[in-house]
Amino acid sequence: MSMHPVEINLENVNSNDSFEYAIAFLRGTVTCRENVCKTLNCKVLVLTDNQISEFTVQDGRFKCIIELKLGTNLVNITCDSELHVGQYSLNLERKPNICDKVLKLLYVVPKGDTGKFQSSETCLNSSESACKRIVTGVKLLQCMTAERLNELGLGRKTFNLSTENGQEVCEIFHSQYTKEQFFAWTSEKIWNMTARELLANGVFVQGVKVLAFLSCTEYFKESNEIKGYVACGRGHLAMISSSGLHSWACDLKDVVSCLTSSIPIDSTLFDDSGSRGTLSGCYATSLGAALHEIGHIFDLVHTDFGVMARGFEELDLFFTVGNSQAKHHGTELRRRCGSREISVRVRAPTKVTSVSFGMRSIGNDKDDRKWDRDGQAYFHRSAAVLLSGHPWFGKCVQLEDKGPIQISGLEVKVPNGIRLIELHAEDDRLVKYWDFTKNPTNIHRYCLSWFDVKDVIQPSLLVQDVTGKIVTHYLNFGASIPSVSQ
Ligand SMILES: [Zn+2]
Ligand SMILES: [Zn+2]
Repeated sequence: MSMHPVEINLENVNSNDSFEYAIAFLRGTVTCRENVCKTLNCKVLVLTDNQISEFTVQDGRFKCIIELKLGTNLVNITCDSELHVGQYSLNLERKPNICDKVLKLLYVVPKGDTGKFQSSETCLNSSESACKRIVTGVKLLQCMTAERLNELGLGRKTFNLSTENGQEVCEIFHSQYTKEQFFAWTSEKIWNMTARELLANGVFVQGVKVLAFLSCTEYFKESNEIKGYVACGRGHLAMISSSGLHSWACDLKDVVSCLTSSIPIDSTLFDDSGSRGTLSGCYATSLGAALHEIGHIFDLVHTDFGVMARGFEELDLFFTVGNSQAKHHGTELRRRCGSREISVRVRAPTKVTSVSFGMRSIGNDKDDRKWDRDGQAYFHRSAAVLLSGHPWFGKCVQLEDKGPIQISGLEVKVPNGIRLIELHAEDDRLVKYWDFTKNPTNIHRYCLSWFDVKDVIQPSLLVQDVTGKIVTHYLNFGASIPSVSQ
């Protein structure tokens, strides 16, 4: 039997692309050159200097996640099945991240506690295991954020993680509060008390934001209660529970199997799976929830779809192919973030519009939804624009600061030039935005129309200038001083 040659193509990465973070995501296709085989279902082997991993090809599509070492990485993708053979090689460059601002990962252990997280008996649940799972998970978030921004033409920008000897780390933080105290508190209170404690301990030094996990979160099956539950992101602290950690991969090599696992969640554990009931659903939902809260500390508000709505639950669809476990939107649990409920919307509403000043309208954000096949864990255009210019997302070109953003009535004056304006409603939800990134020249002044704000309850504006600086301001239709959020 003669072999069929195959053609391997990558959709999102080119040879000599460079990355400022550890995990590279490759999405591609394998097609048979004989033209007799319609779609291929096989495997590809991915070889780098220090690892060899296998990924599924389903209907001719595959996705790989690989760890890059500093410097040049030669990546070899081969298809070698009974009938099909082919290969593709490329070089990927990993550069050190030069952004001086970092996201620090903390695992918060109550006073007198072992730091074990709740899990089934067969699962390693020590604080060391927790830290490994957290580091692997957040590196995936770092990679997905960069890819999502790159899909929108904004470059592979992402947040930087704190490291020790070049390795990303999650540190254990020993709290002065006991498990009993955490159990007695609401999500808001847990966030508040932890934020104060971290502040008092000097954790929030210049250029540090924190993603913290509370180790002692516990589900009580008998009473169907969860204690020590937190999901909140504000200011410099994002904090979530450890209730999903049992489903997280310890190492990169286990990520795909964990994200596609159809094993049901043990009935003694909290089912935080976006109504899927599986370990993979739990991994996607709880890791996605971490990204949602990280989004808040990078100044994102709730939107009607994407990561800043409930789209984060579909993170598994981004990283894997042929993961067909359907979500049941009708039977959703309520999900809270901070003191607010995150709304569930299956369809994008029409009221979020994007106006590129002086240019043709980009149109409704529904256009962004062409990646739905890869799940809705993407950033809304406005959020992506904000992040890609955010001071925490890579070193900005040092532009001369020509002065502060001023907002008076409906008029915005920005000496450096406007990058983005967002109109928010009272519940910190995005109503409308104006994206100036496609303008050929800087705009220094913009005036909102009364019609933009007249139906919005307690409207506020977020303005980002071209240096990345962000100001938020409640509109009271009189002159007042804006508050600078960073
Ligand atoms: Zn063939
Ligand atoms: Zn939220």
